[in-house]
Amino acid sequence: MQGRHFLQIPGPSPVPDRILRAIAMPVIDHRSAEFAELGRAVLEGCKTVFRTTQPVIIYPSSGTGAWEAAIVNTLSPGDTVLMAETGHFATLWRQIAAKFGIKVEFIPGDWRRGADPAAIGAKLAEDKAHRIKAVMVVHNETSTGATSRIAEIRQAIDAAGHPALFMVDTISSLASVDYRHDEWRVDVTVSGSQKGLMLPPGLGFNAISEKALTAAKRNTLPRSYWDWQEMLKINSTGFFPYTPATNLLYGLREAIAMLHEEGLENVFARHERLAAACRAAVKAWGLEILCEEPAEQSPVLTGVLMPTGHDADRFREVALRNYNISLGSGLGKVARKVFRIGHLGECNALTLLGALAGVEMALADAGVPHRTGGVMAAMASLQGNGGPRIEAVA
Ligand SMILES: *Cc1c(COP(=O)(O)O)cnc(C)c1O
Repeated sequence: MQGRHFLQIPGPSPVPDRILRAIAMPVIDHRSAEFAELGRAVLEGCKTVFRTTQPVIIYPSSGTGAWEAAIVNTLSPGDTVLMAETGHFATLWRQIAAKFGIKVEFIPGDWRRGADPAAIGAKLAEDKAHRIKAVMVVHNETSTGATSRIAEIRQAIDAAGHPALFMVDTISSLASVDYRHDEWRVDVTVSGSQKGLMLPPGLGFNAISEKALTAAKRNTLPRSYWDWQEMLKINSTGFFPYTPATNLLYGLREAIAMLHEEGLENVFARHERLAAACRAAVKAWGLEILCEEPAEQSPVLTGVLMPTGHDADRFREVALRNYNISLGSGLGKVARKVFRIGHLGECNALTLLGALAGVEMALADAGVPHRTGGVMAAMASLQGNGGPRIEAVA
C-alpha cells in the first residue's frame, strides 16, 4: 500500500528516522576501546531516564527476559511475593514467578484499573511475620491502558513499615510516563527498548537499588546469563560479559539524546496531551474506554471496548486492509473484546489525528455502531489543551 504504515500498537512503537540512522552503522569489536566509549555512554545515559544514580543493567533480551532477571537475582524458591492483577502483563509476570517456585499472592483485579495502593498496604500490614519478600507491580498495564500510581504504592509500603523489595515493570511506561526509580525507592525497575524508548525490540533493562544488590548476594535461585554480578563487574569498564546488541546501543545513545533535547517533562506532557485527545475521540464515538478510573487512564495507549456482538479482531483487520493501520489486539481474557490505540514514542498531534481518522473510517466500514465526530473532538482537545501553538500573526 502507498504511503507509510501507521504502527499504532502500544509497542513496538514507531522508531524515529534519526534512531534508525544511528543504528545503521558498521558492527564494531565489542572488546575495543571504541566500544567501551559507547558502553559507558549508554550505561550512564540510561540512568537519567530511569532517574537513578544506581546501576542500570542492559540485556540483549526482550522485556520478558528482564522480568525473569529481576526474579532470579533477588528471590529464592518458596518465597512469597505480592502482585496485583492489573491485566495480561501482570498475569504473565506472575506465571514466570510461579515457574521459579515463588508463591504469588495475587490481589484480584477486573482489568479496568491500576493496582490499588490501599489493598497492597492492607496485605502488607497483615503480614506481621514479613513473609512477603517483594511487591511486584506493572506501572503501565499495556493490555488495558491503566497506569498504576507507583508513588502511592511506595507510600503504602512505607506506611505498613514493611521491608519487602519493590519491583516495578516499566516496559511500556519508561520515557513516556513520569517515573522516578530513586525518589520512589524502587528496588528493581524492569524495562524494555521497544515502547517509550522508541527503539526496535531487543534490549531489556534492570535498574537496581543497593537493597536489591544485597538481596542478590543471599538469594538462592540459580542464574547465569541474567546474573547481575557478572554484568556489574565488567560494566564498570564500559564492556559486557558477552556480546551486547551493539547496534541497538547506538540507537539507545541517540534515543537518550532525543529525550533530553525534548526534555523529559515535555515528553510526558506530550503523551498526556495525545492521550486526552484520543479519549475525547473514543467518547465522541460513544464507545467505552476500558480503564474506568480517570486518574489511571494511560498516557501511552487507550484500550477501547467493542460494542457487544462486534469482534475487535475483525474490526482491526478491516482497519489494516482499508487504511494500512495496525491497532493493538485484546490480550488474554479481553481478546476480541478490546482494541488498543497506541500513542507513544514517536507520535505527535497529526500522527494521532491520522490514526484516529483511520479508526473512525474503519468503524464505519466494519459496521460497528458509533457516532461520527471523534476526530473533531480530538482536534478540539489538542487545541484546548496547551499544545504548542502560534497565535494568529498580526
Ligand atoms: C511489552 C510488555 C511486556 C513484555 O515485553 P516483551 O519485550 O514482549 O517480552 C511486559 N510488560 C509490559 C507492561 C509490556 O508492555
